[in-house]
Amino acid sequence: MKALRRFTVRAQLPSALAPLQTLATNLRWTWHTPTQDLFATLDPDAWERAGHDPVRLLGEISSTRFGELAKDADTVVTVRELADDLGSYLQEPRWYQLEREDDPSLPAAVGYFSMEFGVSEVLPNYSGGLGVLAGDHLKAASDLGVPLIGVGLLYRSGYFRQSLSLDGWQLEHYPVLDPQGLPLQLLADADGAPVLVEVAMPRGRVLKARVWQATVGRVPLLLLDSDIEENEPDLRGVTDRLYGGDQDHRIKQEILVGIGGVRAVRAFCALTGHPAPEVFHTNEGHAGYLGLERIRELHERDGLSFDEAVAAVRAGTVFTTHTPVPAGIDRFPLDLVRHYFSDEMLPGVPMDRVLALGAEENPNMFNMAHMGLRLAQRANGVSQLHGAVSRGMFGALWAGFDRDEVPIGSVTNGVHGATWEAREVTALLGDCGPAANHMQRDPVSDEMLWELRGALRARLVSEVRRRVREAWLQRGASLPELSWTDHVFDPDVLTVGFARRVPTYKRLTLMLRDKDRLRDLLLDPHRPVQLVVAGKSHPADDGGKALIQEIVRFADDPAVRHRIVFLPDYDMSMARYLYWGCDVWLNNPLRPLEACGTSGMKSALNGGLNLSIRDGWWDEFYDGANGWAIPTADGIEDPLRRDDLEANALYELLATQVAPAFYERVDGVPPRWVELVRHTLTTLRPQVQASRMVREYVEDWYAPAARAAARISGDDFRPARELAAYRSRLNASWPQVEITGVDASGLPDTPEVGAEMTVRASVQLAGLAPGDVTVEAVIGRVGETDDLADSVTVAMEHVGLAEGMGERFESVVKLPHAGLTGYTVRVLPSHPLLASSAELAKIVLPG
Ligand SMILES: *Cc1c(COP(=O)(O)O)cnc(C)c1O
Repeated sequence: MKALRRFTVRAQLPSALAPLQTLATNLRWTWHTPTQDLFATLDPDAWERAGHDPVRLLGEISSTRFGELAKDADTVVTVRELADDLGSYLQEPRWYQLEREDDPSLPAAVGYFSMEFGVSEVLPNYSGGLGVLAGDHLKAASDLGVPLIGVGLLYRSGYFRQSLSLDGWQLEHYPVLDPQGLPLQLLADADGAPVLVEVAMPRGRVLKARVWQATVGRVPLLLLDSDIEENEPDLRGVTDRLYGGDQDHRIKQEILVGIGGVRAVRAFCALTGHPAPEVFHTNEGHAGYLGLERIRELHERDGLSFDEAVAAVRAGTVFTTHTPVPAGIDRFPLDLVRHYFSDEMLPGVPMDRVLALGAEENPNMFNMAHMGLRLAQRANGVSQLHGAVSRGMFGALWAGFDRDEVPIGSVTNGVHGATWEAREVTALLGDCGPAANHMQRDPVSDEMLWELRGALRARLVSEVRRRVREAWLQRGASLPELSWTDHVFDPDVLTVGFARRVPTYKRLTLMLRDKDRLRDLLLDPHRPVQLVVAGKSHPADDGGKALIQEIVRFADDPAVRHRIVFLPDYDMSMARYLYWGCDVWLNNPLRPLEACGTSGMKSALNGGLNLSIRDGWWDEFYDGANGWAIPTADGIEDPLRRDDLEANALYELLATQVAPAFYERVDGVPPRWVELVRHTLTTLRPQVQASRMVREYVEDWYAPAARAAARISGDDFRPARELAAYRSRLNASWPQVEITGVDASGLPDTPEVGAEMTVRASVQLAGLAPGDVTVEAVIGRVGETDDLADSVTVAMEHVGLAEGMGERFESVVKLPHAGLTGYTVRVLPSHPLLASSAELAKIVLPG
């Protein structure tokens, strides 16, 4: 008999074991090995049956077993000690609290909005890198004591689970998750009634959502869920799947996470007394509608006009873009936005102003990234290279500015060490996270490092065998045919990993470019390579599925199947083994389309060596001694030829550099390899930590945003009103602002570096005051095109009226370089509440 419905009943724990409930539901256990060990020992069989999920485990353990455990003094003491440890982790002042003593302007709370969160496989609410990054951000924030509130959606089926058909085609499954069986708690009011967030929909309908709270150490994560009886059937489906529907489905999800998300935060803070966020961080553009909801709030509560509210919202918003290609940007047809946005949904927020926030080149589209940039005073990409790419990609929004002046910075992503580092690494090298104890440790010998790598590789090999067997059973094979899977992979063979989502730019099949050559590498009698591949293709992307099939078919060949495997259903639970055990982490994207990439960082944490195109994070972190850079054929236009060149370079590197370093042994240890591993662990391991990333966000982004938000909202929002009035004056006058004359004097006949000249300009200000603008002299090198390079800017002083030509400005400028030199003058807006003079995208140049 099959059950008609299923639901989860939580266990009644004996009082001596009651703290297990908190230990299981606070997701801190996911990065706290002593707590994991406790769960594993309560009932090892049940732990396996529960798939290493503590909430399920507590449901699996029989009451008899609980009775025994409650009488076992060791267990009871361990439970109490771990509960106390968690208690102090949650209470004690951490880095942020100490910082805030010195700098009270640090925000009391930050709202962190993301479409996906990959905290753990027990809460499968993510599809890939973006979600896992968000999860790592929350965990590192928790470790540092940063008062974040995460906000997202709870998907009934998460992302899909992947399996393979017999002929290697990706199949998708959508198991339904019961929130009661997840580490979640329903947000309820004092009377126990679930909080319902409401957002008005067209034709008088209302989209409602309840709010589940996950607890990630110290950080609450609020997840909105529309699958409730109070909703009409089609609206129940809004949170059915991640990245699963059409544009209409998608915009409803984004409305819910953005607008509903702010409402959920308000309800959460009101009920729990948690301080309200002073800064809002949107992780990618999806949740950008949160800015519109905050405009509505400011309009209703404080009587601000739309422009005044925009000024206030911008001050406290940080926008992180993750997309280096225009095609990857989230956009909606204008009519769809018009359909949903109404005075019922956002009273007092005028539609035409909303539409203008998302305006882009195509007048019929609404661009979420453009809205993100217009509603955030601070914006960043996720690696240095991606910052530069973003400045180019969005440069049109700052027409007239040089690319490097576009106000988009960068924070290079990081990964949560305690989550992704094998416990053996931490045991050998010590903690590397924010709680690192920098005591001198015993030196680690080459033998110890090599042994460590061998142990991690061996564990990967048995996991690969287990998963290959499982995969073949799912594909329809029977056990007796599968004895060969016991000999898949070899714990002593150089192991290369390649696992990621399968969009075209990641080039899953580059390694298959020359199949004979790959086969030779795999089957080399002296220096073989084994290759583990994994990744999911978006369900709608048949091209991606065809690439997977190509790999699977190659790997199915009995001649090579012991040396190359494709493992279906890449997720966090598999990824961990790969990052631990692979000797080499391969990444061959089309540069510069990888915004950052984080899987290579997770490999590096464990002493894995990266073999990668210099893209994303590897462009800034490759140092010649921590792995290998695959030369990129960036300038080659023909994509096939480019693939050929880069694949060729990859085979070359594997055959002539990687394999020899791995197999050349002195007393059983490969000295060159171990040197690379040691260097990686010493230099990369500290730098790729998510704690480094979160500190950068706090210091360089959240803190300035909090200060700006406080300044602009002080004195009953007078500064916001002033800034809005300034912008409006600027908009009216700017088209008439004109540089009417420029000259320079004072240079000797044969000037040398450092010689001084006086630059003078007259500027017609069209009604603006001299203090409303900055006039700058710009001096730098020029080539044949007269484009200034390596330029220096010097603010010019207002020195009076220029008869009939406006205002006079002048300054003394020192010649910065030898060689052909040029200069010009420009006018920019100036206001104390602007974060940079490029912010408003206004510039006047001569003539
Ligand atoms: C880290 C991680 C990713 C992201 O890896 P990239 O290098 O950005 O492709 C994707 N999926 C899982 C499960 C991860 O752990």
